[in-house]
Order: sequence, then structure tokens, then C-alpha cells
Amino acid sequence: MRQGNLFVISGPSGAGKGTLVAHLLRLVPDAWVSISATTRKPREGEIDGVHYQFQTPESFQELIDTNGLLEWATYGGNQYGTPRRSVEEHIAAGDQVILEIDVQGGFQVKEKFPDAHLIFIEPPSLEELERRLRGRGTESDDAIAVRMQAAQVELSQKMEYDIQLVNDDIDKATAELVAIVNEQAEKTRG
Ligand code: 5GP
Repeated sequence: MRQGNLFVISGPSGAGKGTLVAHLLRLVPDAWVSISATTRKPREGEIDGVHYQFQTPESFQELIDTNGLLEWATYGGNQYGTPRRSVEEHIAAGDQVILEIDVQGGFQVKEKFPDAHLIFIEPPSLEELERRLRGRGTESDDAIAVRMQAAQVELSQKMEYDIQLVNDDIDKATAELVAIVNEQAEKTRG
């Protein structure tokens, strides 16, 4: 069995993190992704407990107050946080634990778990990022503008991450991500 590791995957909304993580989960049998809590309203097709644990502002605050979150941050006016217990249990069980979270959360995780591997997913360009966000068709113009602004802030912090990975080709980026996770997991084989 391999030992548990913690991987943080960040990058602007539209960089393709979700697709990359989905491929990773298919290709790496001991990979496990944490399901975040959020006060954001579900998008069409999103299921409570599958994509997110959807919360009210009050229930989210209760998670914070009871030390139920490993990290949390406000993004685009909504709160997002990583449930603590399930992550700790999966690391202890020897899984490759994946957190798909924003950079503010990534830095909090690195403080608490210095051995965490911080991976930043970059879009090929800002133009391509905007094209992808519009192509999703799930966001209003205002929400896209907020996400493009957030993207510029996030991109300015990418060098503080351990690894930067450009997602210009999904198959190539997937292979790179799988290689990174497996390399770290092999290093810590028990
Ligand atoms: P979205 O609303 O598009 O699902 O997510 C918006 C941003 O919040 C993304 O950058 C996503 O990675 C981030 N995010 C999702 N869950 C968490 C979390 O638990 N903690 C933090 N800090 N960010 C999160």
C-alpha cells in the first residue's frame, strides 16, 4: 500500500481543474477527492453530496465554529471550505487525497500540512479562459467578469505553488498530473 499524500489543485475557474481531477480519479485507483462545503447555490445538474455539500450561511458558520473545516475562503461572494474529518481519515487510510480549492485555501493547507503538494493549473491564455467560461453557458456576464478578475489575481500567485501545469491539451495535462501524483506516492510507499 502507498502512504497517504495530500495534493492541492488550484487555478482559475475554467482552467479545466474539474475535468483533470475526474480523469485522475479514473486513472489512479487510490486517489480520492474531497467534497467541499459551499454557500453557493447549486448550478443546474449539481447534486448535494456529490459535487458539493451545499450549506446555508448559518450551517457553514457552524462548521467553522465546530472546527469542522481544514481551510475556508470566500470566492466570488460565496464561502467554500474543506471538511476536515474525511480528509484526515483518507490520508490515514493511505489515499492520494485531492483538494480542488482556490489559492487562498491552498496557502492555508500548506501551513497546516507542509508536506502537501500544491499544483497550479494554468489556462493557455486569458482569452482562452474567457472563451471556456462563456462556452459553459452556466454563468451570467457579471459572474464571468468576477471570475476573470479572480483569475488574474490567482495567476499572479502561481509561482508560490510547488508545480505549475499548463492545460492546453487535456490528454497531455492529464498524463502530467497522473505522473506527478504517482511519483510522490511512490516516494512515500510504506
Ligand atoms: P465553483 O463555484 O466554480 O465551483 O468554484 C469556485 C472556486 O472555489 C474554484 O476556484 C474552486 O476551486 C474553489 N473551491 C471549491 N471548493 C473549495 C474549498 O473547499 N475551499 C476553497 N478555499 N476553495 C474552494
